[in-house]
Amino acid sequence: MNIILLGPPGAGKGTQSAGLVERHGMKQLSTGDMLRAAVKAGTPVGLKAKAVMDAGGLVSDDIVADLIDAELAAMDAETGAIFDGYPRTASQAETLDSILAKHNRSLDHVVELSVDEDALVERITGRFSCANCGALYHDTANAPAKEGVCDTCGCTEFKRRPDDNEETVRHRMSVYRAETAPILPGYETRGIVTRVDGMAGIGEVATAIDAVLA
Ligand code: AMP
Repeated sequence: MNIILLGPPGAGKGTQSAGLVERHGMKQLSTGDMLRAAVKAGTPVGLKAKAVMDAGGLVSDDIVADLIDAELAAMDAETGAIFDGYPRTASQAETLDSILAKHNRSLDHVVELSVDEDALVERITGRFSCANCGALYHDTANAPAKEGVCDTCGCTEFKRRPDDNEETVRHRMSVYRAETAPILPGYETRGIVTRVDGMAGIGEVATAIDAVLA
């Protein structure tokens, strides 16, 4: 099973991917996470990508295609892939079809998380993650049970993404509208798109996604 989670920044793609990994043993392929890891490690890809990411723009199609290709090459054939944050342009959508074919895979579902954009800025500027295990939290909607302590690993250090400020978020949303949303009609023609209400609670969204995969 290979699926794309599509939606603007803050729609819940990362949170829902983490749930799918846990419930179904799938693998999350987040180009954003891969790029952030490259930036942190100071690799040539990271050095190229950092300024673009900080400004909320898109890094080059070649870079993300290589990242995805390498991840799929390293995966067992039986493990399903969740594409999170990829593809983001019409050209990436085309490239993904070729990469999948190369690895004897094909796309089963595109789940579009539909959200109210006004709520997204609030969602994104309030989000943070555990510095140790990466568990995702939000200041008001999903705070750790004990303030300042990660529910999953007990770590007391947290981090926020540098591109999660209001100005950059608004730019990332306009990039989503201009570049990413237009890839949906192509997938709709193939009859593989399901729209899920991304404004519902985390558990309800997870149940709706599971119904699509069942
Ligand atoms: P995300 O974690 O998906 O919000 O991605 C964070 C940032 O990484 C984006 O704002 C882009 O700068 C970059 N990025 C992630 N995925 C892609 C992609 N598929 N194509 C181009 N840039 C990407």
